[in-house]
Amino acid sequence: MTDPVLDTLKRVFGFNAFRGPQRAIIDELLAGRDALVLMPTGGGKSLCYQLPALLLPGTAIVVSPLIALMHDQVSALQQLGVRAACLNSALDARTAFAIERALTAGELDLLYVAPERLLSPRTLELLAEAKLALFAIDEAHCVSQWGHDFRPEYRELKLLHQRWPNVPRIALTATADTPTRAEIVEHLTLAHARQFVSSFDRPNIRYIVEPKRDARAQLLTFLRERRGQNGIVYALSRKKVDETAAALVEAGIDALAYHAGLDAKTRSARQTRFLRDDGVVMVATIAFGMGIDKPDVRYVAHIDLPKSMENYYQETGRAGRDGAPAEAYLLYGLGDVMTLKQMIDGGEAGEERKRLERRKLDALLSYAEMVSCRRQFLLSYFGELGTPPCGNCDNCLNPPQAWDATEASRKALSCVWRTGQRYGVMHLIDVLIGAHTEKTARHGSLSVFGIGKDLDSKRWRSVFRQLIAHGYLDVDDGGFGSLRLTDAARPLLRGETSIAMRLDQPRGKRERYKVTSGAAVDDGLFGRLRALRQQLAREQSVPAYVIFHDATLQAIAGAKPQSIAELAKISGVGATKLERYGAAVLALTTAEAPHHA
Ligand code: ADP
Ligand code: ZN
Repeated sequence: MTDPVLDTLKRVFGFNAFRGPQRAIIDELLAGRDALVLMPTGGGKSLCYQLPALLLPGTAIVVSPLIALMHDQVSALQQLGVRAACLNSALDARTAFAIERALTAGELDLLYVAPERLLSPRTLELLAEAKLALFAIDEAHCVSQWGHDFRPEYRELKLLHQRWPNVPRIALTATADTPTRAEIVEHLTLAHARQFVSSFDRPNIRYIVEPKRDARAQLLTFLRERRGQNGIVYALSRKKVDETAAALVEAGIDALAYHAGLDAKTRSARQTRFLRDDGVVMVATIAFGMGIDKPDVRYVAHIDLPKSMENYYQETGRAGRDGAPAEAYLLYGLGDVMTLKQMIDGGEAGEERKRLERRKLDALLSYAEMVSCRRQFLLSYFGELGTPPCGNCDNCLNPPQAWDATEASRKALSCVWRTGQRYGVMHLIDVLIGAHTEKTARHGSLSVFGIGKDLDSKRWRSVFRQLIAHGYLDVDDGGFGSLRLTDAARPLLRGETSIAMRLDQPRGKRERYKVTSGAAVDDGLFGRLRALRQQLAREQSVPAYVIFHDATLQAIAGAKPQSIAELAKISGVGATKLERYGAAVLALTTAEAPHHA
């Protein structure tokens, strides 16, 4: 017996099986019912409407807020041999007219439309003349007034249901929280729709946090080990973005800077370069990201602490959308903690807001300092409790050592106390190790002077960082970085409680999670396949990943298919791509075989 749904998956998309709830969602739409889909980035949302669009009579209308993204999705579909187009303000009148004609003539499987365009009287009239397969409302959280992506037009989309009550609708989002979900249901009138809520875990992302020693050098090491891969490096300020990008270029890395201080033309050119080419490192503030739908970003590195766990999750989520191994690398140090604490305390916000921000920062600091599975922490922060340790974060792969820091902490805290809670970390450490400086001269007679000689200043920095992160010390908001005790410090100081701390290990000991993404990038056949892909992409001026994803190229490099039939078995190779590129790929794989025979 044939299964047209599975057949289409294999033939058009070249995939062998559905992922998670995809099949159930597709069946819901094919049965003419509505669905609400909550799935993390990279979970495979688009297939949920793209596949039924091919099976249902008529055209599927896809509402999507971002023009750049729309364009790439249409390119990707066209590569699969699907009849897709988009309507948006970037098109000239003649092209738009041709697309409108194709719609009413029933020549399109999918039409992507920006919401404001869709709601225009002209488009609505057109739709009335067309046969409609379904409505897909992508990025449905844009209805939420409280989110950062609020789009007032999204709320008007309920009109679609009023006009076309029998056309099934699917709303999709990667935003997980319950209030947003409720808003989507309300504003899109989806109360009756079945909800498909996936786990928000991104199992292919490896989470790594490293204490800063020499941040620039650490970043360089990380990037050098990943040469040729696509990556994003996030920094907090424009200045730091510019400096970092310049330093990377100096070191021979293909890096670009991106922030809101650049003019629109430069920004757009750099974004295009990142999307189209292989192996570009984008150094950016968080101005870069929304609408970046590049599936083969292999790592996201933060060289400053992000603002909250929510930001961290969203930003790291831009890695590995294609499901292949990817990394989230966070560099974090005492300076970050001080800066963020001061930013909150010294900010203009009201007391309630500050409390909220402090709580968010505390969660992030706990995450950075924790010694157990980071993914467990992340998931439980977002409401998924009781997951087992993941085996794919630095702490799981290489459990950090802990040491009993009770004695050291007491020394540090009493040093803060005895010197009058007026000094910053550097000076406090000088006092502890008994360094003779101009400034410590006045503390020479204190009982705490020199009581910390048993540890070096690096270790003391680590102690102070963790004392601040865990809330025993507070940073004064005067802007000088002076530390004072919190209430939590008293029992520790009095010897009533003890404390274990994470031992900051030098990198050498942590090599075990160094290389993650399967084959090294320049590895013979894989490298040649990538070069072929780049060439094919340039010829058609489409992004490289719409030709083949990394994961597909890696599978091809591994399997070394010797015939069209063997190549067809590989995930990501559908009928159209086989026809277009099969011969070129085989030319490489067959040439390769004898060496490995
Ligand atoms: P989302 O929109 O949820 O972020 P996408 O729809 O872009 O995710 O899909 C993420 C990646 O997973 C894409 O590269 C897509 O081709 C791939 N993918 C989706 N469904 C499957 C499947 N059933 N088998 C293999 N790969 C899939
Ligand atoms: Zn883990």
